[in-house]
Amino acid sequence: MIRGGDAYRSKHRRRAQQHGAVGSFDKWDVQIRFGKQKGLCHYCDEKLDLIGPNKFQVDHFIPLSKGGSNYMNNLVCACPDCNRAKSDKMPWEYRPARFEVGCKRDG
Ligand SMILES: [Zn+2]
Repeated sequence: MIRGGDAYRSKHRRRAQQHGAVGSFDKWDVQIRFGKQKGLCHYCDEKLDLIGPNKFQVDHFIPLSKGGSNYMNNLVCACPDCNRAKSDKMPWEYRPARFEVGCKRDG
């Protein structure tokens, strides 16, 4: 009999589907993303901390509550201030300047 395993898995699946979001990521995905951003916050270009009280956070570029996914292409590394301030706003509501003509997605 397999007991516990299935229950454990479905519990996690339920949590991921709270907002109906699809996709998943792991710490390696985050590390690659961090490298792409050269260790800078996606929104304010401040240097991100790897440890400590200001440790960077993984932000859902399109918020889960607005249909964003858990796939890595919807995730950016942000400083805690930006993540808190952005909350569940759309990225262009939070930082319109990032979306002017000529701006790069991966700045
Ligand atoms: Zn920031």
